[in-house]
Amino acid sequence: MVSRVIPVDPFDLVIFGGTGDLARRKILPGLFRRFCAGQMPPEARIIGAARSDIDVAAFRAMVAEATQEFGGGFTCETGTLEAFLEQIDYVAIDARGDQGWAELQEKMSGKGRVEAYYFSVSPALFGDLAERLQKWGMADQDARIVVEKPFGRDLETAQTLNATLATYFDEHQIYRIDHYLGKETVQNLMAVRFGNMLFEPLWNAQYVDHIQITVAETVGVGGRGEYYDKSGAMRDMVQNHLMQLLCLIAMEPPARFDPDAVRDEKLKVIRALDPVLPHHIIRGQYQAEPMNEANAPGYRTAVGDARSRTESFIALKTHISNWRWAGTPFYLRTGKRMSARSSEITVVFKETPHSIFAEDAGRHRNVLSIRLQPNEGITLGVTIKEPGPGGMRLVDVPLDMTFADALGEEGADQVDAYERLIMDVIRGNQTLFMRGDEVEAAWAWTDPIIEGWEARNDVPKPYDSGSDGPTDSTELMRRDGREWRKVSL
Ligand code: NAD
Repeated sequence: MVSRVIPVDPFDLVIFGGTGDLARRKILPGLFRRFCAGQMPPEARIIGAARSDIDVAAFRAMVAEATQEFGGGFTCETGTLEAFLEQIDYVAIDARGDQGWAELQEKMSGKGRVEAYYFSVSPALFGDLAERLQKWGMADQDARIVVEKPFGRDLETAQTLNATLATYFDEHQIYRIDHYLGKETVQNLMAVRFGNMLFEPLWNAQYVDHIQITVAETVGVGGRGEYYDKSGAMRDMVQNHLMQLLCLIAMEPPARFDPDAVRDEKLKVIRALDPVLPHHIIRGQYQAEPMNEANAPGYRTAVGDARSRTESFIALKTHISNWRWAGTPFYLRTGKRMSARSSEITVVFKETPHSIFAEDAGRHRNVLSIRLQPNEGITLGVTIKEPGPGGMRLVDVPLDMTFADALGEEGADQVDAYERLIMDVIRGNQTLFMRGDEVEAAWAWTDPIIEGWEARNDVPKPYDSGSDGPTDSTELMRRDGREWRKVSL
């Protein structure tokens, strides 16, 4: 299958924090891949803007290195990297001072191009950048800003940040990134739900037993310990990534696939979420691995606080109080140092009301699993007859829609989430970005949960590194006669 690449309009993309970790690992290698794919027009410019006092040549050398180191083995035709680097510029700038702004303004004075400003810096600088963009005449009506997570640490800080950005930019100019929304499978989830007649009639409490969402990581907090300890799994993963997935799986069909129609429906889901009962939340902290050769430290050692009560794992059960989902539990789980790196949404359908096969004693359920990583794809478990003589014995088999297998090269060479989202910014398409009211609604649901465990002085349960969280997490499901899907590669 030949992939169709439609070049975007000429653009100037300024990356504030262009020398930082996120820019080097994701943004710049992603842009290089879009360049190689022919999507980035020759007139486009990428302008790194950061505090480091380096010149353009040094920044280009850094970009070249980043594309090699983090390009995922991606190769381009000879000479292409040089051509890409030609389109790259750099300004040493101070977000909180005057240094570099006149130079940036001069570089951005060309008309008739899309202007985008990526805030890949600490959120503490978002307001300063927005203010200076306006002061230096770069916040005109067509300009776009891209804002990284975390977007606030509670409802109040998110409201303040929204209000600050709104002083300088309209909502249609603000692109709040949640890179989970840029994943191929996440969009495919919408295609599967709303492009087929098959699923939608069954997509409700009458036919669905429960839905589970797991985002499991094998890594620990690494060098981010200090930051992570102030945040924890609820703020770092559930409030944004898992809730966004929950919204897409549970929302009503929007009338059109357009930004506000989709985001209106997502917002309704968040607003219909029930508060979570204390005994429906399991928090955990990973322990050291004494048997591990590398002797990876436990959570408290990694964050340098022997009394830390921040969770590196959370599992919870919630409900959506609306006609479609009343009575259907949603189980969410995410953690660090788990047994495998795997993200999956699973829709478990109810059993057939009656088995006509006398010899069949098994419990058969259709299970639709949507894998985000690794091996993005969708699998539908169906029940068939076990081949051979021996009567009518039933067996569950997967109908596998792994994209790499189904779509050949195009499926295998999937576009990274960041690449897709940056190109959406240039196209001016906000569908896969969070709206301000969505973020606030998500915090409004999250805040009381966090306040609840803080008031109870809750201490996270220890769990072994390489396991799938505390045993209480298994119990959360077992009490309801259900079980988590195995976290697997
Ligand atoms: P980083 O510390 O590696 O880089 C920070 C960048 O900001 C550097 O380029 C630095 O020069 C620049 N900077 C700092 N102070 C400045 C100032 N006063 N004026 C101008 N530039 C200044 O940070 P990072 O890991 O790249 O993260 C950037 C943003 O992305 C943060 O909001 C972070 O939360 C978010 N984020 C990062 C990751 C990741 O994987 N690194 C993932 C998700 C979100």
